[in-house]
Amino acid sequence: MEKKNIDWGNLGFGYVQTDYRYVSDFKDGSWDEGRLTKDANVVINECAGVLQYAQTVFEGMKAYTTEDGRIVTFRPDLNAERMENSAKRLEMPVFPKDRFVQAVIDTVKANAAYVPPYGSGATLYIRPYMFGSNPVIGVKPADEYQFRVFTTPVGPYFKGGIKPLTICVSDFDRAAPHGTGHIKAGLNYAMSLHAIMEAHRNGYDENMYLDAATRTKVEETGGANFLFITKDNKVVTPKSGSILPSITRRSLVYVAEHYLGLEVEEREVYFDEVKDFAECGLCGTAAVISPVGKIVNHGQEICFPSGMDEMGPVTRKLYDTLTGIQMGRIEAPEGWIQEIK
Ligand SMILES: *Cc1c(COP(=O)(O)O)cnc(C)c1O
Repeated sequence: MEKKNIDWGNLGFGYVQTDYRYVSDFKDGSWDEGRLTKDANVVINECAGVLQYAQTVFEGMKAYTTEDGRIVTFRPDLNAERMENSAKRLEMPVFPKDRFVQAVIDTVKANAAYVPPYGSGATLYIRPYMFGSNPVIGVKPADEYQFRVFTTPVGPYFKGGIKPLTICVSDFDRAAPHGTGHIKAGLNYAMSLHAIMEAHRNGYDENMYLDAATRTKVEETGGANFLFITKDNKVVTPKSGSILPSITRRSLVYVAEHYLGLEVEEREVYFDEVKDFAECGLCGTAAVISPVGKIVNHGQEICFPSGMDEMGPVTRKLYDTLTGIQMGRIEAPEGWIQEIK
């Protein structure tokens, strides 16, 4: 297969249209057989449920080329499962898990020419999503839905080397207790846009959100979970019903325990203890781990000993091990790597 003529190392994180996408329609209570199409446009009624009442959920994952030249994805079954939970919370039909995984495989395979080569740092980002497509004006769930998967090649997250982030404690809340913070829905992002733009205007890379009820506990950022490292090398990650269960974070916890022999605590983390941690990182599909160098809370700075130039040593080990597993340099736990062939 001939790769597309793309300058992989200089790709940003933007939409680049690829040749094929997957579509399946839900109508009269069932999903159709689904198909790949070259048509990148979605045509829906002006009153579609997604446009009026934001009935939409999504996933984000990656395909990449391993050291030995295979095209793989990472734990797509967990994305399928998470989308199932997201759909149920928004009264949407579930797209069956095995069909989700197959749709991802079929879409990546059809766009194999866009999967960046090993070593480029670039990857093929995969976006499965689902939305209410028929007209809905009274507030209720749609009757018809579309499940789609598209792909777009994206560049290395950190161009020119990893750079620790400066984040600020947001005065806005991301998710309410008993709300929708634990599902991957566009609605959680729509309301975070103002908060992230404010953070950027004030010179910060990201927002740290606190729990909405007491504003004393660490939740997550707009799109990544927190991992902290204590001074005695324990991994600590916040536990809360309104955090989105990051697959990267869950995988890093496993790597910490089973590959690196580190102790892990998943528990409530009070903002007051953050100043005592040695390292801090943000976990998500996009960057795997982004190191955090500094957290600012209304002018008060917490500077981690790892500094503003490099990842802390434990964060680095976690990062190297997980990316090693993903790229086929380190043996993966059973079922983590889905080969596309
Ligand atoms: C997608 C997402 C994450 C990261 O999840 P991964 O499965 O690791 O990519 C974290 N927080 C939020 C709010 C998200 O939407």
